[in-house]
Amino acid sequence: EGLGEHRAKAERMYSLMDGFLKNDPISLQKDILHHVEYTVARSRFSFDDFEAYQALAHTVRDRLIERWHDTHIYFKRTKPKRLYFLSLEFLMGRSLSNSVINLGIEDQCAEALNQLGFEFEVVAEQEGDAALGNGGLARLSACQMDSLATLDYPAWGYGLRYEYGLFRQIIVDGFQHEKPDYWLNFGNPWEIERIHVTYEVKFYGTVEEVEMNGEKQKVWIPGETVEAVAYDNPIPGYGTRNTINLRLWAAKPSSKFDLEAYNTGDYINSVVNRQKAETISNVLYPDDRSHQGKELRLKQQYFFVSASLQDIMRRFKEEHTNFDELPEKVALHLNDTHPSLSIAEVMRMLVDEEHLGWHKAWDIVCKIFSFTTHTMVTDGEKIPVDLLESLLPRHLEILYEINFNFLEELKKRIGLDYSRLALLSIVEEGAMKSIRMANLAIVCSHTVNGVSKLHLERLKTKTFKDFYGLYPEKFQCKTNGVTQRRWIVVSNPGLRDLISKWLGTEAWIRDADLLSGLRDHLDNADFHLEWKMVKKVNKMRLAEYIEAFLTLSLLQVSLDAMFDVQVKRIHEYKRQLLNIFGIIHRYNCLKNMDKDSRRKVVPRVCIIGGKAAPGYEIAKKIIKLCHAVAEKINNDTDIGDLLKVVFIPDYNVSVAELVIPGADLSQHLSTAGNEASGTGNMKFLMNGCLLLATADGSTVEIIEEIGEDNLFLFGAKVHEVEKRRQKRLSNLAPLQPAKVPLHFARVLRMVRDGYFGHKDYFKSLCETVEFGFGNDYYLLTSDFGSYLEAQAAADKAFVNQDKWTRMSILSVAGSGRFSSDRTIQDYAESTWKINPCRCPL
Ligand code: PLP
Repeated sequence: EGLGEHRAKAERMYSLMDGFLKNDPISLQKDILHHVEYTVARSRFSFDDFEAYQALAHTVRDRLIERWHDTHIYFKRTKPKRLYFLSLEFLMGRSLSNSVINLGIEDQCAEALNQLGFEFEVVAEQEGDAALGNGGLARLSACQMDSLATLDYPAWGYGLRYEYGLFRQIIVDGFQHEKPDYWLNFGNPWEIERIHVTYEVKFYGTVEEVEMNGEKQKVWIPGETVEAVAYDNPIPGYGTRNTINLRLWAAKPSSKFDLEAYNTGDYINSVVNRQKAETISNVLYPDDRSHQGKELRLKQQYFFVSASLQDIMRRFKEEHTNFDELPEKVALHLNDTHPSLSIAEVMRMLVDEEHLGWHKAWDIVCKIFSFTTHTMVTDGEKIPVDLLESLLPRHLEILYEINFNFLEELKKRIGLDYSRLALLSIVEEGAMKSIRMANLAIVCSHTVNGVSKLHLERLKTKTFKDFYGLYPEKFQCKTNGVTQRRWIVVSNPGLRDLISKWLGTEAWIRDADLLSGLRDHLDNADFHLEWKMVKKVNKMRLAEYIEAFLTLSLLQVSLDAMFDVQVKRIHEYKRQLLNIFGIIHRYNCLKNMDKDSRRKVVPRVCIIGGKAAPGYEIAKKIIKLCHAVAEKINNDTDIGDLLKVVFIPDYNVSVAELVIPGADLSQHLSTAGNEASGTGNMKFLMNGCLLLATADGSTVEIIEEIGEDNLFLFGAKVHEVEKRRQKRLSNLAPLQPAKVPLHFARVLRMVRDGYFGHKDYFKSLCETVEFGFGNDYYLLTSDFGSYLEAQAAADKAFVNQDKWTRMSILSVAGSGRFSSDRTIQDYAESTWKINPCRCPL
């Protein structure tokens, strides 16, 4: 009878619905107008571009929600093994264009808007970026979510909903200033607040031993409780109904919080103190390399880990009763060491809350975690024991016990080799005793993934050499990838149409390997013509942006010039300084040329962009130097269009979408052995830009695909870098003029002597590349000659536009391997062991 009642209710509800939302332009228009009036609360007879954006976003969101519900109902019904992708950062950028493309309603939306008097591109521009991450790692998470949805994998992303994303970079007089990015100011139509999905997250307190069923049991008595509220962000797949979930947590004061405080009579202070809970998820740490030793950072990590795991365990327990099934149903992926506290938390849940017993719990834990490391350095993330002891006392005990058991096992294998034991230990002894998060993640994960072949090799032979000796079977390579949906289809519609026309299919949008078919048209003159036209239009778009954005400097750039781009976070190892020194050298050469020689010069527009971590002084000086050099060169009427230097401020995903398609040449200059993978290089490759690069990270694999002749390679190889450093240091008189290439010495002297002003300010920057000070750790001096040769080769190739176009076509044709679809499929099959689960229509 219960079932009959349920069916009758369902039928009645169904009869009230009009079925699925329709996607023809008229239905879309009706929905847009509905949202203008009832969601945005504007008159349907008068609304502007931003309000049109809001209304369209809600119209698209409704459609996303339908699919998202269906996907989850289907997953619930079929109970597949699920992947939980844990990452403290997701750099999603804008959602509108990506969503309409993945839903397959882009033309209909454009037509609907058109009939209402709006233009899709203009409306889409109204959206701000969701910048909940720093750079490569965070954008990778976003690309991988797109691939997980597209390939129908039953996956969830978990992260933090920072109220302040990555700071906005403002440039004043050439100096970087940081402005908070309160990105939620105008609402966020792409998220769904789930006020009923909340969990309590506990901190501080003590651990007590209690007697339970005749056995001693540890119990954590926490001292502070904060509430985690879920915000869900639907992620639609392309060419599928599957729409998966990215669940981000926000901290709120617990409703049970501190009743006592209110009874003290200090009501105002109690409310203010309550508010402090919310600061946990307030702000993203803006350093993409280190976050050591900060209590708030540790709080963020545990807040995120605790809420996510409570949610994951609840879902598991709704469907299963036996924890032995956990490894068959749950894969937990650690995106870098940031979420590694998950290991201790799962142990705590299984041992203290589910009373499974240590060994059984440990056995399960070792089967569910996998780990990807993004670093080259041995000295990775560490948490001071003092901090853990006060914030998470029970977790510290668990970590000690994990380490004790691990070391005992280790002694059986390697004997009492104390120096090796100390190296491998999860606990680092010393002045500041701390937990090594990478060691923890390696010990507990069934797979440890590097992000390029070169990176894996480095992990095996250097970074985690000792661990590799212990667990060779754990170490795998999963070269990073980027999604062609965003990085061609959304950001380069001209190229999308061209590729589809010449391949005769759009299937490459789901299967990037098909891009290799472009090689069949390599010598077709019409194809070349259309290819060049697409690039020209993208360059025009970029030039307009530069002119509009940099109005103060009244900068105009010539479309005939080579657009030469280096955009990424500013770091010494990424060597933006090498680029700037190269520009100064080019300037010197131009100044010394006669008129005839100048006529043969390929004009250049050198574009640099990227943020420096707020506390990273040298990186900030690099930004200032870039501006100082630009000011000098751009105002030198003698040089004119032959050389222009542009710094594009506030580099983020939507700026990348504009800049990358418009670049002719892109620079990836990291000293070999420093970039774990790099993903910027892949995006430029997909957009037909030629790379000028070192043999570092994933560039080595790009060379395997397109051949050394198809890019401009320079600099020391990984195996040469260490030798050169040694040589430099053992050189007794390294500042002898003969030891420093003449061109380099000259450029350095110009900066040092104040040719670009700010002599004192640039002194410490110059010292980084001088012996006796910074010792030129990143080898700018020794790579400079080879860098200039690569630049000259690029100039030469650009003159021959047929050759250049061939190289450009071959770049795109060889980019299929760098789709994140390939990365994700590889992870799914060999690491997570999950299967596609496609929601039926
Ligand atoms: N920041 C943004 C906004 C990006 O889109 C990318 C691209 O991959 C990166 C940073 C990382 O660039 P790279 O791999 O060149 O350091």
